Amino acid sequence: MLRKSIVSLAVTSSLVFGMTAAYAAANPSDHAFDNKIVKRIKVDNIYKTIELLSKEPRVAGTPAEDKAVEYIAKQFKSFGYNTEIQPFEMFQYTSPTTVELSVDGFVDTDFAPDSFTYGANGDVTGELVYIGLGGPDDVDGLDLSGKVALVKRGSYTFAEKILNAAGAGAEAVILFNNTSGGINGTLGEPSDGYVPAVAIGRDLGEQLADRLAAGEGLTAHVKIAGAKVERQTSHNVIATKKPNPNKDTGQIVIVGAHHDSVEGGPGANDDASGTATVLELARVLSNMPIDTELRFITFGAEENGLVGSYAYAESLTEDEIDRIVAQFQMDMVGSRDAGELIMYTVDGEKNIVTDLGAAAGARLSGVVNYGQEGRSDHVPFAELGIPSALFIHAPVEPWYHTPEDTIDKISKDKLQQVAEIVGAAVYQIARPDTPALKNARVAPKPVDYEFEERELE
Ligand SMILES: [Zn+2]
Repeated sequence: MLRKSIVSLAVTSSLVFGMTAAYAAANPSDHAFDNKIVKRIKVDNIYKTIELLSKEPRVAGTPAEDKAVEYIAKQFKSFGYNTEIQPFEMFQYTSPTTVELSVDGFVDTDFAPDSFTYGANGDVTGELVYIGLGGPDDVDGLDLSGKVALVKRGSYTFAEKILNAAGAGAEAVILFNNTSGGINGTLGEPSDGYVPAVAIGRDLGEQLADRLAAGEGLTAHVKIAGAKVERQTSHNVIATKKPNPNKDTGQIVIVGAHHDSVEGGPGANDDASGTATVLELARVLSNMPIDTELRFITFGAEENGLVGSYAYAESLTEDEIDRIVAQFQMDMVGSRDAGELIMYTVDGEKNIVTDLGAAAGARLSGVVNYGQEGRSDHVPFAELGIPSALFIHAPVEPWYHTPEDTIDKISKDKLQQVAEIVGAAVYQIARPDTPALKNARVAPKPVDYEFEERELE
């Protein structure tokens, strides 16, 4: 799971209401279908895969990730899946070691300048010019050659402001806040068009702007050194099984997890647990009759900002997006020290994935609640309008993202429960007797269960 601080797609907390939904009784034959899945699941397979994958951290773009990717692909192939390794580019940014700003006439002032993620290095001294919000109109006709642009936050992205100023010839940019506090900003991606830029607080920025407006000439000195952008390649592993062409509803269901881990963390639970469960469900479903295309995917670079799942989502055609009826994401599904199983959607609303999960839970082991949370690979799918949900135990264990995320803290009971619920839910759509969800608009019928919204802690 992605740590909170690098989630730019802020999922705001909403009012939480207790919800109760009563549904018609389950079709008794659903239990028989569940059993086909449940009796095939071998939790020792999942456990052994976690043990193997968590021998070392699997940081995206490193040889350790490559090794995991090869192992996963080999497993998928051995189950008879059409298997693709999908490469994608990512950037590793190293923050600068030096970030300095001084302005003549502000002798003892500590501007406490901050840098921007993906910002450029440089050492610039030049006349300070205030260009307002730094939009295209603000720089239109200006010649800022050799100058340092002072820009206020707002209306445009940081990157747009810097590129606009640089386009007019500015050699550096000082960006000040429009509210109290500091700016912990990112430019989103690297660009050769950037000039060195620093961020400062509102009060000092307004003082600079006021003195320039009063006709005073100010010279600024901006220095940024040590920043580094490295281009790296990470990979998704995609295993596909198509239904018999005579019984093809045209639907696609995706079951995903992320195989990368954070630096220094062996990631037994985060997310070797989800990856290993994806592999086991792929094995279990490999010989089952289906009328729905199944895609089992392990994503790379989740911990770098959902980079792999965004790359995969971007690679989908409109036709595929239309046909994907559900995406199940399993992230951190085996910790002995985490809370209960919860299904999280990006908008906090239940959908076909949570309905199927809750129904399977009710048939197999009890209530599964839902709540609102992003922070994993279900987000890019939700943004495409695809019903998706994150299956995770919450609250998460204390050693999440630490070297202590190791195999000894993995619970086979937790793994078994998640594998059964997700496996049964997937099979309820994928098996040939259930009508196509889209065409018939028939949601499988859960037994009575209560939905309660939960926040991830
Ligand atoms: Zn994580």
